[in-house]
Amino acid sequence: MQTATLSASAASAPTTPAAQRLHPSCPICGSRLLTRLWEVDGYPIVRCGGCSLVFVHRMMGREELAAHYASGDPVYSDDANRDCLDYYYNRLRGLIEARFSQPGKIFDVGCSSGWFLDVMHGWERHGCEIVAADAENARRQHGDRIFHGAFEEYSAPHGYFDVVTLQDVFDHCPDPMAVLSKCRGMLKEGGLLVVKVHNISCLYAKLAGPGFYAIIPPSHLFYYDRGTLGLAAARSGFEVVQSKFIAHRLRLSTVFSRLSRGDKKSVAHRIHRALAGSRLGNVSVLKNLHDIVTILAVKRNALEIEDSTDVA
Ligand SMILES: [Zn+2]
Repeated sequence: MQTATLSASAASAPTTPAAQRLHPSCPICGSRLLTRLWEVDGYPIVRCGGCSLVFVHRMMGREELAAHYASGDPVYSDDANRDCLDYYYNRLRGLIEARFSQPGKIFDVGCSSGWFLDVMHGWERHGCEIVAADAENARRQHGDRIFHGAFEEYSAPHGYFDVVTLQDVFDHCPDPMAVLSKCRGMLKEGGLLVVKVHNISCLYAKLAGPGFYAIIPPSHLFYYDRGTLGLAAARSGFEVVQSKFIAHRLRLSTVFSRLSRGDKKSVAHRIHRALAGSRLGNVSVLKNLHDIVTILAVKRNALEIEDSTDVA
């Protein structure tokens, strides 16, 4: 799924009647107090008055999303970008391994070419990937522990994994609570859930409004922050134990690709094309605008959940 974050375009705006269905309420807190914020590339975006979640109001069908992802831009998972991605992956590995006395079993949802799994040496590594070419790359390293297909179609073993990760995936999921429920079922008691998404409450997002680079419907359907991500996790039986803004390393050419938000006619895209492959474009910069948030959350046992329900 990671390749798809750069593929949004106005040309993919929905036209079929089935795509016109709207979320009647907030998928996380259930509130019906939804306020229209903007319309971006033909997609209405609302904010929930109950929990402040920002999301694409239109409910997206799986077929419609599959058609959108069929035209991906490979910039993000380009081989030349690998060392930049590894910077984040190694930081995350450190956070995960600090919570375990020895390597266990890990599942990466939307694992792309398996690069994050590659850095998790010593772990029993599993993943799923919907893009065929990426899944094939991952299978070269990790064999049939990589499932080619949607996470929803993966037959997950119950209570098997120590860690489940969703990196640049969760904001693409049309039914986020169903995804977290499935993750919970796959994890052992006390297992760790890791979710990394864009942070809609960072200063950059507040200043840029609908121009924030991560607002690219229908690739990103939900726009979270620490609060709404924590609420989604808590309502799914997890307790957030860590919430981090981890720095990212980016090539200069990639920075302009992100700023273009997939618009191939934009000035930013033209600069990206001019820089791609050049010495200047290959210069990497360390970025931490608090625009990306990563949470680590522990699976609570059923008894703890009952207790907290009583208190509420
Ligand atoms: Zn809400």
